[in-house]
Amino acid sequence: MTAQQKRTVYILWLLIVPMMFYVALNYYPAAPYDYLNLAIYMAILLATLMTTISLGNVSITLERWVIFSLFFQYGIVAEMIFMQVATLVLLFSHKSSTPKAFRFGVNSIEAVIVSLISAAIFYAFGGSLKEMSLGSFLLAGFIFATVYSLLNSAILFIVFKWVKAGTSGMKKIIWWDYISTILLLPFAIIFCLLMQEFGSKAFLLIGVPFLIVLLVSSNYMKSNKLNEVLSSSTVIGHQLADRLGVEDVFLTFIDSINGVIPYESAYIVDLRMGENLVVLALKEGEFHSGEANRFSFPQKKSDGDGLDVEVTKLFLNKRSISSLIGYTFDPSVESVMTAPIKRNQKTEAFLVLTSNHRYAFEEMHVKMVDLLTGYFATAVEKARYYERTVEKSVRCGLTGLYNFRYLESKLDEEVIRYHTGEISTLSTIILDIDHFKAINDTYGHQSGNDLLCTFAALLRSHQTSEITLARYGGEEFVMILPNYEKYEAVELAETIRKEVEESSFKIIPDLSEDREPTIVNMTVSVGVATMPMDAKDGKELLRNTDRALYIGGKQAGRNRVGVYEEEKENVVS
Ligand code: GH3
Ligand code: MG
Ligand code: MG
Repeated sequence: MTAQQKRTVYILWLLIVPMMFYVALNYYPAAPYDYLNLAIYMAILLATLMTTISLGNVSITLERWVIFSLFFQYGIVAEMIFMQVATLVLLFSHKSSTPKAFRFGVNSIEAVIVSLISAAIFYAFGGSLKEMSLGSFLLAGFIFATVYSLLNSAILFIVFKWVKAGTSGMKKIIWWDYISTILLLPFAIIFCLLMQEFGSKAFLLIGVPFLIVLLVSSNYMKSNKLNEVLSSSTVIGHQLADRLGVEDVFLTFIDSINGVIPYESAYIVDLRMGENLVVLALKEGEFHSGEANRFSFPQKKSDGDGLDVEVTKLFLNKRSISSLIGYTFDPSVESVMTAPIKRNQKTEAFLVLTSNHRYAFEEMHVKMVDLLTGYFATAVEKARYYERTVEKSVRCGLTGLYNFRYLESKLDEEVIRYHTGEISTLSTIILDIDHFKAINDTYGHQSGNDLLCTFAALLRSHQTSEITLARYGGEEFVMILPNYEKYEAVELAETIRKEVEESSFKIIPDLSEDREPTIVNMTVSVGVATMPMDAKDGKELLRNTDRALYIGGKQAGRNRVGVYEEEKENVVS
């Protein structure tokens, strides 16, 4: 609300509330006050206000039966005073993002207007403080309760429109307000009649049982709500467990918590080596990834910065958020939740949720988040393990290059890309170290292994993101070159061949006693073939590349690039 709206409410309060009290005092009937009874009324009122009933996502308090009974017995002034007290109590027990003074002003004005008009109608329809027949009591009471509830809703609706608050959920609230008011009316009438008959002892007959039932149902509803929340968290847990990719787990986690905790932005911030903070995943409004635009944080976490590594914390207004030193949020952020994500009792990351409303998060959300971060940590660990296993299964243990299994499936993929027109040519190169057996025999198998690794590194230096590099087996390596014309593939093969020829490879001989580092020179023979001219499919392409290696490379004298040509199956270079 604007400053102007606030001012309007304060001025209206000064104009309306005292005047309404004046009218009530001078023009409406009142019964002599029995202060013990009034104290009992106050006690029941306070107890009722403290116990909230949630219906779906609407929470209501059932104080109206006390208020009505008071009105029937002592008149409107007592009722109005009690309503002002109730307004004050609700102000502090129900958190809201609206400033307290404004809320009190609006609710206080609303209460006096509703009280006065409903009371006038009660008396007009035959209601009285003196004894009435039950029939006329019920009729006047029913009309009173109806006007009281509907007028209350109407004023609220107008205020909501005025401060431009959303009125979409209001229909339900209006409906529940009316139903609960009418259902409470008989209690109010009975309480009033019993009070008239038995005095303050009536409190034992209806006040205490009502409070007990209220307490039991309120707790029942709370546990129901908790059950609902728990079962939705189980669903989220299953969803997370089904995800095999780490990235997928992050996104599923961030998305699914939005179903149970209303947030505007969410961040998963990694805590590396116990101090370095790095964003792993985020959601800002609609945006799922990229840079954090609405949140900045220090590169290193420090001890006194307010970000708790042990327990989930709520920061429910701007002042409280400012206790997070070094962490800055978008100016629109009014509430923040920070939750440690733990693995083996050690905090490895944080979940940070923000909302543009004050007091957006509750204790129940904390419980929920604690449960979900547990599921999340397990799911991430499983996904990481899975990804590592998959990665291992396609790699050669010695050189770290892709293995033959991966090569085969990748080649099939590339052939499909060729057939769908995504790439225009597909070349392959096979490289085979010359006389490698002799190297093994001279320097030992271990030295041979070292050489294979050095050679793999040399090949890697020619790799681009499009090129697939694999160890075919033994001392043979393959490069898959999408979109490489034959002459380009030959050029690359020739470059590598030359580089190997000119390189000196340092090894520590495995067999000799002194194990002095030794320089070894070696050469490679290479075969090249290209789709579409040399083959129809992946298998044929590899076979013909191998043929080119054998005929154009090895048979022609080694240290050569053999290029497959259909007719001659012959040599170039
Ligand atoms: P060519 O010039 O005809 O290719 O001769 P070559 O000796 O390289 O060829 P051959 O196929 O006869 O022998 C390959 C040798 O590679 C046999 C084996 O000792 C060696 N080898 C295969 N795999 C490994 C390995 O993983 N480590 C080591 N150290 N040697 C290997
Ligand atoms: Mg070989
Ligand atoms: Mg060889």
